[in-house]
Amino acid sequence: MQKNVLLSAVDPLCDWYEKNKKQYPWREKRDAYRIWISEVMLQQTRTAAVIPYYERFLSAFPTVEALASAPDDLLMKLWEGLGYYSRARNLKKGAIQIMERFGGALPKTKAELKTIAGIGDYTAGAIASMAFFEPASAVDGNVLRVCMRLLGSDADISKEQTKRALAAMLDAVYPTGERAALFTEGLMELGEAVCIPGGEARCALCPLTELCEARAGGITHLLPAKSAKKPRKILERTLFIFQCGDRFGIRKRPESGLLAGLYEFPAEEAALSEKEASALLCSRGIAFSSLTPLGEATHIFTHLEWRMTGYLVTLEKEIDGLIFATREALSAVYALPSAFRFFKKAIEP
Ligand code: SF4
Repeated sequence: MQKNVLLSAVDPLCDWYEKNKKQYPWREKRDAYRIWISEVMLQQTRTAAVIPYYERFLSAFPTVEALASAPDDLLMKLWEGLGYYSRARNLKKGAIQIMERFGGALPKTKAELKTIAGIGDYTAGAIASMAFFEPASAVDGNVLRVCMRLLGSDADISKEQTKRALAAMLDAVYPTGERAALFTEGLMELGEAVCIPGGEARCALCPLTELCEARAGGITHLLPAKSAKKPRKILERTLFIFQCGDRFGIRKRPESGLLAGLYEFPAEEAALSEKEASALLCSRGIAFSSLTPLGEATHIFTHLEWRMTGYLVTLEKEIDGLIFATREALSAVYALPSAFRFFKKAIEP
């Protein structure tokens, strides 16, 4: 990989970005806290989907101090549907550390930012360059794609070594002053809007066409190179949606692991037929007046796939150990992850 192409890309990309940048709420001012929240939300989530979440989050927690003392249930509720809930928990953990160690203001260097919980190399580089103009790279999937194509490199982007090598090359050509922010933003924007994945790069709109090795070699669709992922583990689950009057039974998941601390409908780790589901409830001494199939749904996590079957079970009395909540409370108070959306919808009147 040679860095000259990257150096030559700096000016045209910064100029292009200034003329073409999209207006997002987190771009209204260069504020480190706002950039931090938006960057964490944007990991794994599309920009359009993030905007309403970002606005609700900022109005509930407008400062580091407010986030540090956020009630956990409210924090999770505001994150409901965004997925990867550890991001929200880490934001709060990070805010507490910023209060304790930095007097409530985010530190100004990439190195110090990386000492905060949940802030990795990418987020630290994004905040340092966009809020504080540090000439520091922020390498995420978009930036990797753009740069591997520009360089015509077939290095495997799923390898840490490739990311580190690219970060070092970018650090060596980063501009100073406000252009450090423009370069980071330009790379992100180009990756999101122009140099998009698959064979669809919009090279005719790109300010770097003349420099791009992949374009010159006609190999845009082959880059970036990425080794095949391990297949996902499949887990069969049976969900019981217990209804007693106008209330539904939910429980809190354990405080660590997948969807930690969020709420869920009780479940068994097996695909149970209607007959098997009835027999299981009877064997546990749960008295019910009806059991109705609600259908099947799949939810995909990064390394895991849940295949769920759901039953609506009508009870005479509430089951000890479960929280029974109305539909309104399920929507307004308890954070039920989107994995359960299908079944939550199925019990709507
Ligand atoms: S010319 Fe095409 S492939 Fe190269 S950086 Fe621009 S959009 Fe991407």
